[in-house]
Amino acid sequence: MVKILCPDGEERHIDDVYDAEYEHFPPVVIKALIAGRGKKRKRNENKKPRFGVTRLTGPCLRRSYYDLVEEVPITLSKLWIFSRGHAIHNFFQEHLDETENEIFLSQDFGLFDAIGYVDVLSDNVMYEFKTIQSIPDKPKPEHLMQIQSYYSMLSPDKQSKIKKLCIVYFSLNKIKTYIVPKLDMLNYLEARGSILANSLNTSIPPSREESYICNYCDFKDMCFKRDKDK
Ligand code: SF4
Repeated sequence: MVKILCPDGEERHIDDVYDAEYEHFPPVVIKALIAGRGKKRKRNENKKPRFGVTRLTGPCLRRSYYDLVEEVPITLSKLWIFSRGHAIHNFFQEHLDETENEIFLSQDFGLFDAIGYVDVLSDNVMYEFKTIQSIPDKPKPEHLMQIQSYYSMLSPDKQSKIKKLCIVYFSLNKIKTYIVPKLDMLNYLEARGSILANSLNTSIPPSREESYICNYCDFKDMCFKRDKDK
């Protein structure tokens, strides 16, 4: 079930968002924002977990854990940020051959699998596209680790052919590309994924990894309040 935190402050199921009228979100806009977001896939607790690479390379494993087991309502503004990102990705990818686009990778770590989609792999250059409000002076660590992880998940033969790893940032008025070093991230992924898999088994969230990210974290109340309640 996907819940929306509506502009009037009410939480509604995604099918019920049209029950009220909102000044800045006419129905045609809402329709586009919620398109294709009706279902959140339920986790099968008996199956070996599969973690998207970004869950493991992100800045906080506790946040990744909450995102897997909890449900917090999402605002329409946040849906706009996601939709805008997808639109820009599609704009570039629709001109590429489909064999170069969204390359699926999977790595078996025993306790869990790590999976991911390389945005573009063209002419043996690996690209990760990021839409962002303002372009950073250097690649963000989580983006760096993401593309390096994808590189690590290739077979040795494919790795040897990769010429470079590029992170391409898109803001509303600028594009900037960073070439980043190739690095083996498999040990890092295994360590992070094992913590997350154990947390799912025991239902005990991983430790907090506090940073400025906490200010934007959807699970902040949950993360800090639960501890106070103990
Ligand atoms: S509030 Fe901070 S420490 Fe807690 S889950 Fe979110 S990012 Fe992690």
